[in-house]
Amino acid sequence: MAADLGADNQAFDEKHDVLKSTQTVIHKALEKLGYPEEVYELLKEPIRMLTVKIPVRMDDGSVKIFTGYRAQHNDAVGPTKGGIRFHPNVSEKEVKALSIWMTLKCGIVNLPYGGGKGGIICDPREMSFRELEALSRGYVRAISQIVGPTKDIPAPDVFTNSQIMAWMMDEYSRIDEFNSPGFITGKPLVLGGSHGRETATAKGVTICIREAAKKRGINLEGARVVVQGFGNAGSFLSKFMHDAGAKVIGISDAYGALYDPNGLDIDYLLDRRDSFGTVTKLFDNTISNKELLELDCDILVPAAIENQITEENAHNIRAQIVVEAANGPTTLEATQILTDRGILLVPDVLASAGGVTVSYFEWVQNNQGYYWTEEEIDEKLEKVIVQSFENVYNTAETRRVDMRLAAYMVGVRKSAEASRFRGWI
Ligand code: NAD
Repeated sequence: MAADLGADNQAFDEKHDVLKSTQTVIHKALEKLGYPEEVYELLKEPIRMLTVKIPVRMDDGSVKIFTGYRAQHNDAVGPTKGGIRFHPNVSEKEVKALSIWMTLKCGIVNLPYGGGKGGIICDPREMSFRELEALSRGYVRAISQIVGPTKDIPAPDVFTNSQIMAWMMDEYSRIDEFNSPGFITGKPLVLGGSHGRETATAKGVTICIREAAKKRGINLEGARVVVQGFGNAGSFLSKFMHDAGAKVIGISDAYGALYDPNGLDIDYLLDRRDSFGTVTKLFDNTISNKELLELDCDILVPAAIENQITEENAHNIRAQIVVEAANGPTTLEATQILTDRGILLVPDVLASAGGVTVSYFEWVQNNQGYYWTEEEIDEKLEKVIVQSFENVYNTAETRRVDMRLAAYMVGVRKSAEASRFRGWI
């Protein structure tokens, strides 16, 4: 399950509007690449945005009407691709921004996709299994005309999982009158899911950390790592770092953080965390998330929620490398401060692209009907992420821009180019 975005954070998020900041960087990236203004006009918003109402009969007999969205940012390169989020804070603006980020991720790792994203305003933690199934199936029926294996391929995101993907695939297959595993990724293995999908994001982040450490001459053996968030991304990442010989000295969840300068027992913590990534409640001597981010360390990985490194704390970050496993953890002001301070920032659209990469492998396997081993998946993922990291890093160096702008330049180019070849602009 994915991150709790914090219902009380709305006022703060108004200030750090993710759609606006994404548009700002897209604009700069297109300018740097020499594209005219109309390309920005096309790419600043999704090309298609569907709002749907989904009636669900609840367990108490009443009917509740849920609101859902599906955004397709740009389909010039190929079908759009991106997860479906179930969360009370889902909004049209957030879904739009997330669909643009997906275009950037797909462009960076060079997949034949544009970006898409979906969301339903709901709180799955308060719904029964039956209600969740009805909502998932109702959403697919409502968006079925604009999605499909060659149009737009959903996947899991915050508070959605392989079971929800399975219901959605089944519903789409009924509508399509074909078994359509290629309609959605992140499925259970027996329904055409891929080996390595569950750990793909953390593996991608791990590869980025390794490559960034090489650039800064940091030996991972014994390097001090701090990870904010101990859910799907943060917990697997902590394990991979621990196995690589690094010392994970701090981890956190929504309730607090744990710190041990000698290195935490990650296997024990993994064993004790619950399905929402909570583990710190078991301990008395915790520190705050704010303190965690400012710990003296070599590598800091925000792997929880948005807007964690801001102009208020960016000056206090002591890591040499910050790798964004979470989507949008650093504001634009903070990006500038970290870059000016010589800290190497690996941006979210590059660092967390391992998930969509293995989702692509899942879709390819579904289309060809032939399935790869975990080793084959790992080998392919490794190649893609190393190449993508180099590409972004070299762009930052040669064009003298920060890593976020470089990632946006690499990420947006394919959609801009494809739109031009198609004669749209
Ligand atoms: P998750 O729900 O599995 O875990 C989230 C973790 O963050 C939990 O430990 C939770 O306690 C913690 N958290 C929640 N609110 C917090 C707060 N206010 N302060 C500190 N910690 C808090 O989520 P996940 O799937 O690991 O995703 C984490 C981030 O990574 C999100 O930004 C998500 O969009 C991004 N991401 C995840 C994937 C993936 O495949 N899981 C892919 C790409 C990006």
